[in-house]
Amino acid sequence: MKKWIKEELDFIRKNCNELDNVQLAKVLNSNSNSIKCVIRFYSIKRSKEALKKFRLLHSKKEKLKRQIRYKKVKCQYPELGYCWICTSHNKDSQGYIQVIRHKKQYQMHRYSYEKKYGFIPKGLFVLHKCDTPKCINPNHLFLGNHTDNALDMVQKGRGRNQYGTTLLEGTIRIHNGYKHIKLNKKWVYVKKISG
Ligand SMILES: [Zn+2]
Repeated sequence: MKKWIKEELDFIRKNCNELDNVQLAKVLNSNSNSIKCVIRFYSIKRSKEALKKFRLLHSKKEKLKRQIRYKKVKCQYPELGYCWICTSHNKDSQGYIQVIRHKKQYQMHRYSYEKKYGFIPKGLFVLHKCDTPKCINPNHLFLGNHTDNALDMVQKGRGRNQYGTTLLEGTIRIHNGYKHIKLNKKWVYVKKISG
């Protein structure tokens, strides 16, 4: 067994009710088996509630519930390959799959993007190249702002914006050589018209 310094042991003692062995191992740059040994060796006691919580978290049934499963479906844009359509979780009213991680609710495509590419800056949208809300293939996702989202919507003729209102042809106008689109009762500049 490696030598544990006092600070590390104190950290384990202090946090053993909040963090499980895997999480402790991550912080202390160790592995969960060593943490298990240390806890036993120094007879560090966890509260009953904590033990119950961790047991549940690592049970097979719970793991299965947390597992994200998807099926591969040919994308409507053949050059993109396969869409990953999530089958293990439910969708919300907008057609996006919801997932709960770290006590926070995520839209699955945002979660999938964060897992592969990292943190999504505030105010940015995760958009689908494949135009399939249920798709969680990170290769089909890209970041965009409000305007990109609107432009993307117009180009693909999706006809619905995130406020759930139908986007009619009349909601696009050309003004001073710029294409505008009506979003949330405001006109948003979308694209400069060339020529
Ligand atoms: Zn896709």
